[in-house]
Amino acid sequence: MLTTADELAAQVELSPAERAGLAASASLFRVGVTPYYASLMDRAHDSCPIRMQVIPRAAEGQIRAEELRDPLGEDSHNPAPSIVHKYPDRVLFLVVDRCGIYCRHCNRRRLVGGDEPPTTAELEAGLDYIARTPRVRDVLLSGGDPLLLSTRRLGHLLGRLRAIPHVETIRIGTRLPVVCPMRIDDELCATLRRHHPLFVNTHFNHVKELTPEARAACERLVDAGIPVGNQTVLLRGVNSSVRSLRALMRGLLRARVKPYYLFQGDTVIGTDHLRTPVEDAQRLYRGLRGWMNGMAVPMLVLDAPGGGGKVPIVPDYIESLDRERVVVRTYRDTRVEYPQPRERDCGVPYDAIYFAGEPDDDDREGSAPDSGDELG
Ligand code: SF4
Repeated sequence: MLTTADELAAQVELSPAERAGLAASASLFRVGVTPYYASLMDRAHDSCPIRMQVIPRAAEGQIRAEELRDPLGEDSHNPAPSIVHKYPDRVLFLVVDRCGIYCRHCNRRRLVGGDEPPTTAELEAGLDYIARTPRVRDVLLSGGDPLLLSTRRLGHLLGRLRAIPHVETIRIGTRLPVVCPMRIDDELCATLRRHHPLFVNTHFNHVKELTPEARAACERLVDAGIPVGNQTVLLRGVNSSVRSLRALMRGLLRARVKPYYLFQGDTVIGTDHLRTPVEDAQRLYRGLRGWMNGMAVPMLVLDAPGGGGKVPIVPDYIESLDRERVVVRTYRDTRVEYPQPRERDCGVPYDAIYFAGEPDDDDREGSAPDSGDELG
């Protein structure tokens, strides 16, 4: 891994802002880049989207009053070590504290890049919490990057989760297909496929990252029956143009990766220079919706500061709405009326509509959040 200014200077012509950022990085956030990801850097241009994601700039040292160490309020939803339980039916399980690269926009910079990986006892406590909490249907392995665990260790962890009857789905959040695609080898895919239903969400931010190697890594996962989604963070000057986002989303779909979320940047310390205004995010979204296959359009969301959860911030396409009709604006900015149904009633209350499925999560023993529950 490249971690120092000298190592990076051997790769690119560092700009004064990058040199200043690297000099200050010890007090900001760890620097680290895989040799593969570094090989994608433009040697001459510091506006290269790869460089902007991993080489700190002087601006990173300007901490604004509104910026937070823990922008998503995760530290107040910690019922067990390594567990963040913010939403009713799912938990985040932080199984490792290292990453393949250290992204300058990372919202978990307070936790990753240190030298204190979760201990075996902490991971056991996390597994124990999941096992005794029946409302947890879904576990998202994150960190750090879970695919940095050895395949044997990861397989063991997945086996333990799979042995918990109420855990229905497992997700893995990883940037390794982007920054170290060779990690996605046949042995890893064979291990992961033993634990279906299992989903992988990765994190491509720019079409330049969609190299033949990265695309092949995603395809290996998909060929193992693992649906792969992508979460992009909107980053000013990195991907904040319609042209860039369209190319990325189309490229992802060609690699059989479903664009899932487009995130407004979190208010994490030292990232003001990377965030876009929300109205710009909406304008960019309008350049996607309708202009591309809907499968290629991610949901534009903002993760509410303080732990409020993800909130869609897509622009409003409804101009007016009453009992008779709805007036909408199309993607081409024309005005169209949609007539409401003449009969509004379906004869029975909505909660009495025929339903032959199993009882919902809230009916499970011990699963109903009580009034003191802090779940977002
Ligand atoms: S890979 Fe994810 S957790 Fe790691 S530094 Fe990047 S954004 Fe943060």
